[in-house]
Amino acid sequence: MSFVLALSGGVGGAKLALGLSRVLPDEDLRVVANTGDDFEHLGLTICPDIDTLTYALAGVDNPATGWGRRDETWNFMAALAEIGGETWFRLGDRDLATHVERTRRLRAGETLSAITDDHRRRLGIAARILPMSDDPVRTRVRTEEQGWLDFQDYFVRRQAGPTVRALDFAGAATARPHPEFLAALADPALRSVVICPSNPFISIGPILAVPGVRDALAACRAPVVAVSPIIGGAAVKGPTAKMFAELGLGAPTASGVAAHYGDLLDGYVMDAVDAGEATRIRGPRVALAQTLMKTLDDREALARMVLEFADSLRG
Ligand code: GDP
Repeated sequence: MSFVLALSGGVGGAKLALGLSRVLPDEDLRVVANTGDDFEHLGLTICPDIDTLTYALAGVDNPATGWGRRDETWNFMAALAEIGGETWFRLGDRDLATHVERTRRLRAGETLSAITDDHRRRLGIAARILPMSDDPVRTRVRTEEQGWLDFQDYFVRRQAGPTVRALDFAGAATARPHPEFLAALADPALRSVVICPSNPFISIGPILAVPGVRDALAACRAPVVAVSPIIGGAAVKGPTAKMFAELGLGAPTASGVAAHYGDLLDGYVMDAVDAGEATRIRGPRVALAQTLMKTLDDREALARMVLEFADSLRG
C-alpha cells in the first residue's frame, strides 16, 4: 500500500488536503500540520492549523470563515465579554470543546499527536493528521512597529497589520520531529510529498525548521511537489504576499515561492495565470493548473492533477 504525505498550514493547506483525502483511497493520506501557530490562551492550548485541518477533513468546518466549526454559536464569547475577559481571539462554543478537552489531556500527560489522532478518528477522518512535533514550537514575529510579537498577537489581534522584519520559531532548534513524520519520509511506500498552498514563511517554514526535516525531505526518494499559494502576484487570503516585500524578498510571485523552497522541490504547480513565470523557475519541473479552490470539485481536480504530476516525476 502506498501513501501520500502532505505538509500543511491552515486554511489554504486544508483546502488541498480535503481534495487529496477525497481522491485517495482511505488511509492513503497523512497530513503533517504546522504547530508554530499554537498558543496558550485563557488557560487553553489552541492549535489552529491542526483544528482547521481536522474540521475541514471531517466536513464540520465553517465555510464562511475558513476557520472554526460550522453551525457555531458564540455564547461563551458573549459571556466572557460581559465579565471583562479577552475576546480578541474568537472561540465558538463548539470549537471550545476541542480546546478544553485537548488541554485536559495534555495536562494528564498525553502527547499532542495522540490526542489529535484520537480526535480525528472520533470525527470519522480516515487520513492521519500528525503535528510536526510533539514538542512546543512557537512562531514569533519581529515587527517594525511593535518589536517581537507572539504569532497570534500579530496574526489575529493585530490582523497581520504590522510590518514583519524577521521570524523566529521558538523551540524549533530543540524540537524533535514526530517520529512517524521522519519514518514516513524514509518509507519505500511513500508515493509523493505534497507541500500544500500554505504560507511558505509562517506555515511551512516552521515545519522545515524542525531539525532533521529538511535533510529527510532532501533524502526522500519520493517526488516532492509544492503548490503555489500565490496566484497572479497576490495571496488568496492572509499576509503571504505582503510578507515577501517585508522580509526583503521583493514582489510576491509564484516563482518567488519556488525559489524560496529551492532545491527541496522536484516539482512545482503554479496557476495557469502565472504561465509567463515558468521559465524563471530553476530546478523543479513546472506544471500549470487552475489552483484557485473555490468549490469541492476544484479541490478534487487540483488534488488529482498534483498526484498525477508527482507520479510522472517518479524514478
Ligand atoms: P493559515 O495557516 O490559516 O494562514 O493557512 P495556510 O498558510 O495554509 O494558507 C494561507 C495561504 O493559502 C495563503 O498564502 C493563500 O494565498 C493560500 N490559499 C488560500 N486558498 C487558496 C487556493 O484556493 N488556492 C491556492 N493556490 N492558494 C490558496
